[in-house]
Amino acid sequence: MDTKIIQELREFLTQEQIKTDVLLKDCTSFKTGGKAGLFLIPETEDELAGSLSLLKEKDIPYFILGKGSNLLVSDSGYAGAVIKLGEGLSQIQAEGTIIRAGAGASLAKVARVARQETLTGFEFAAGIPGTVGGAMVMNAGAYGGEMKDVVESVRLLLEDGSIREFTCEEMKFGYRTGILKEIKGVALETVFALQKGEGEAIDAKMQDFAARRREKQPLEYPSAGSTFKRPEGHFAGKLIGDAGLSGYAIGDAKVSEKHNGFVINTGNATAKDIRDLIFYVKEKVEKETGVVLEPEVIMVGEF
Ligand SMILES: Cc1cc2nc3c(=O)[nH]c(=O)nc-3n(C[C@H](O)[C@H](O)[C@H](O)COP(=O)(O)OP(=O)(O)OC[C@H]3O[C@@H](n4cnc5c(N)ncnc54)[C@H](O)[C@@H]3O)c2cc1C
Repeated sequence: MDTKIIQELREFLTQEQIKTDVLLKDCTSFKTGGKAGLFLIPETEDELAGSLSLLKEKDIPYFILGKGSNLLVSDSGYAGAVIKLGEGLSQIQAEGTIIRAGAGASLAKVARVARQETLTGFEFAAGIPGTVGGAMVMNAGAYGGEMKDVVESVRLLLEDGSIREFTCEEMKFGYRTGILKEIKGVALETVFALQKGEGEAIDAKMQDFAARRREKQPLEYPSAGSTFKRPEGHFAGKLIGDAGLSGYAIGDAKVSEKHNGFVINTGNATAKDIRDLIFYVKEKVEKETGVVLEPEVIMVGEF
């Protein structure tokens, strides 16, 4: 990356917040991905807004990285700037039945705070390995719950540099989607509205969901969770199994035998292996069953 842009970014960020040697395979749950052109770690809203406006002015593409748990990053990496929200944008505060969480905070940590405050409603999200910001994009959900049920409002940094609070309704949450799939905003902070609960019941629910994950999901291998969205009226895993693809592999990318809906990295799978497998599965399932699978995993960079 041009050293001039690094100099200019120093107006907003310290040297330690601007990295040029970050391998994205170390930042994604699939454990694939080449280098980021730039890797920026803003700690405040001003640092973030300043950096983004400079990148826009210079026509440098960027994307926001949460925990990388729903991403397939190309082996050639990402030529633009990857923005990772720092600790300053990951703070969590509880106030009565409200939890205010910075977009960089992990869902697991928010769930721990909810438990400490004996607040119920967030148990479903405790085992989703992403950040609050990623969950606002995806309307992350599990075991009958989704972000839509617990979000009161989200503060967004919009493309024009303004910051505005969006209500839950304005976030247009749907199945694994929301307004952040339509507009290029950055989630800064979410207000979650929970209810007063009972400690033991919250623990029991979280333990039950965690046990169900361990039993059903290949958590011992790198993956991005469910590879495909659930097609209406079907389960992706069942269709994939019915198409005879359980255990099917390309290189070290494999359709998990434990859960056919997960593509896993059994060793040194490249992003290309994984992508090829995803498209092979999609094609074969359509041919065998007539159902079109849509990847839930987001592909980043050139393939
Ligand atoms: C083992 C495993 C189990 C999983 N189980 C579930 C599950 O039960 N339910 C479920 O819904 N998902 C599940 N997932 C998928 C994943 O955890 C979720 O999609 C999660 O919401 C992604 O969050 P993230 O922070 O990792 O986002 P990333 O994967 O880093 O990014 C996802 C998208 O969000 C964008 N983004 C991230 N932060 C921001 C921000 N602050 N502002 C704007 N855009 C942003 C990124 O640019 C990208 O487009 C699972 C994944 C794994 C590996």
